[in-house]
Amino acid sequence: MKNTKELRTWLDDLALDHPLVIAGPCSAETEDQVMTIAQQLKDSDVSYFRAGIWKPRTRPGNFEGVGALGLKWLKRVKQETGLKIATEVANATHVKIALEHDVDLLWIGARSTVSPFIVQEIADALQGTDRVVLVKNPVNPDLALWLGGIERLYAANIKKLGVVHRGFSTYEKTRYRNNPEWQIAIELQNRFPDLPLICDPSHITGKREMVFDIAQTALDLNYDGLMVETHTDPNNAWSDAAQQVTPDHLMKMMEDLKIRKSTDTEADYKTALNTMRTQIDVIDHQLIEILGKRMKVADQIGILKKQKNVAILQSKRWNEILGKMILEGEGHQLSQEFVLRVFKAIHQESINHQKRMMNS
Ligand code: PEP
Ligand code: MN
Repeated sequence: MKNTKELRTWLDDLALDHPLVIAGPCSAETEDQVMTIAQQLKDSDVSYFRAGIWKPRTRPGNFEGVGALGLKWLKRVKQETGLKIATEVANATHVKIALEHDVDLLWIGARSTVSPFIVQEIADALQGTDRVVLVKNPVNPDLALWLGGIERLYAANIKKLGVVHRGFSTYEKTRYRNNPEWQIAIELQNRFPDLPLICDPSHITGKREMVFDIAQTALDLNYDGLMVETHTDPNNAWSDAAQQVTPDHLMKMMEDLKIRKSTDTEADYKTALNTMRTQIDVIDHQLIEILGKRMKVADQIGILKKQKNVAILQSKRWNEILGKMILEGEGHQLSQEFVLRVFKAIHQESINHQKRMMNS
């Protein structure tokens, strides 16, 4: 992609003095539900009203969307509230019908981004469109696949583009529904600083109580906008009930979020500094998590050694580890002294963990 600045003209043309907000229910359920939510969002910071019409469900048997019928309701939203409308498309037929109903923004969902065949089919069907197209990150933490999706659209001459960060599936349960893995989105942002980057805190967290904090982290990382699932009766939503917020909640959230984007150079400097500090916070958080994981393995070794009645300290193995880490560290511009100190501390903590297990 050569001229990534032109990719964001659709966003700059909105001339917003706040982050872009895309909001609306996970799924369009009934005409009433859609119209009620849209009416409550029309005098807010929301620019695009979202609603899923075709719902990709991980397992069959859940609500799979109302289908094309819902597009008539979205059209009504546009006519009666002036909000622009947005929905997910997952194949060429969806694209055709969505374009016929004058959908302003189409997004490719996480389960579609994983498939180059699907993305290509959608790109071909959208060839040269003047609508905005957003690519959600693939469900698996693979930056190349995400970039591939954007490149396929760009190659189809689609110039109003953006990406949505909605987190990544993990086998292990974490506190998130989809682990943010911020470093992946940060790398994408570093490579294409002009490509609009939007955070979807709803699908990252899966819980409405956590939506605000993730949205704040995204804004601290200089994201361009938010996609927030919003429903007037979240608890009774037909899909993703736990993560949707009410329109009032969303409006209060937009008031409370600290927005650091600005135009003068002093403020630019502060924004850049703040973004980098947030990147450091994200990495530090990962360091703690990874150290915790390492110590859990140390606990298991402690249990095993206790069963076999083996000594904790195995100096030969320890010297091997140190030698390897010093070499690896050099490849990352880390001094020998630093690597030694860090690993001595890790080793000591590991011994303490093993001891605790042997004495338990
Ligand atoms: C959605 O936005 O409703 C959706 C299905 O998202 P994702 O593709 O991120 O799971
Ligand atoms: Mn959803």
